[in-house]
Amino acid sequence: ADKVRHGLSRTRQNLGKQLSGLFGGGKIDEALYEELETILLTADTGVNATNRLLEDLRKQVKRDGLSDAAQLKKALQEALITMLAPLEQPLDMTKEKPFVIMITGVNGVGKTTSIGKLAKYFQSEGKSVLLAAGDTFRAAAREQLIVWGERNNIAVIAPENDPNNRNDPAAVIFDAVNAAKARNIDVVLADTAGRLTTQLHLMEEIKKVKRVIAKAMPDAPHEVLLVLDANTGQNAVAQVKAFDEALGVTGLVLTKLDGTAKGGVIAAIATQHVENPPALRFLGVGEGVDDLRPFDAREFVEAIFD
Ligand code: GDP
Repeated sequence: ADKVRHGLSRTRQNLGKQLSGLFGGGKIDEALYEELETILLTADTGVNATNRLLEDLRKQVKRDGLSDAAQLKKALQEALITMLAPLEQPLDMTKEKPFVIMITGVNGVGKTTSIGKLAKYFQSEGKSVLLAAGDTFRAAAREQLIVWGERNNIAVIAPENDPNNRNDPAAVIFDAVNAAKARNIDVVLADTAGRLTTQLHLMEEIKKVKRVIAKAMPDAPHEVLLVLDANTGQNAVAQVKAFDEALGVTGLVLTKLDGTAKGGVIAAIATQHVENPPALRFLGVGEGVDDLRPFDAREFVEAIFD
């Protein structure tokens, strides 16, 4: 919990401090709601989530006969927890072996770093892990994974790149799933090349990767994990939509929450697919290998407020 608190210090300083000022005293009136709306939008909470939170608050105020601004803090916390709770769905990895996780996301969001953190996390739970260097687009990504695997004693499937004809990412991951089966490995983390969602042919390629994984193991990938950078704010919401349409995203990792005041983006994600919100599996709260936390709605909201 301290890690999340520390990681969210910037969001807390901005959002939390302003909210504390707002709830410091005085009456609940229209001016207060308007100020709250501005604060939430500034934290990248987005129009949908902000409207829903304000509606929920007005209802609570009416129902409970609240009049002091100070009473709104608790009400807002509860409204936020209710909104974010559907995102809290821990990964169930008990049914499949190997459990195959396909990692996707735009370049620079923290994919490779998150793969390292996830590998450590699963190892700490007593699981064996194998990495697949499926980002054959960027030579450095392959090198990075190999070095990381050697240092941490984790197997990496990374065939040598042919300089004239780069490896087929689908083939690399297909081989990795088969290797994991042969070696009785628990979890496969498959890296894929960063995609600009506007690059249609690259989106087609990543769809093919998913199809080919299913040929190595019928229900695989068991998780399509999209990594998002919290700094990109509302753009992260657009990325969820685009990747979900192409691949069927089942889980999210939201990175770099430690460096941003835009923590409200989680609420924007929660209200995007009201029917079926994607699970927010993990938060990245720093560059270190241990700076990964399973998402807990209450812990997150309490870390923002104080
Ligand atoms: P990729 O291109 O998506 O594989 O991105 P990388 O994993 O190479 O990460 C890009 C940069 O973001 C690196 O400098 C990482 O150290 C940094 N980074 C990744 N996750 C986090 C995080 O949770 N917090 C912070 N502060 N930096 C992060």
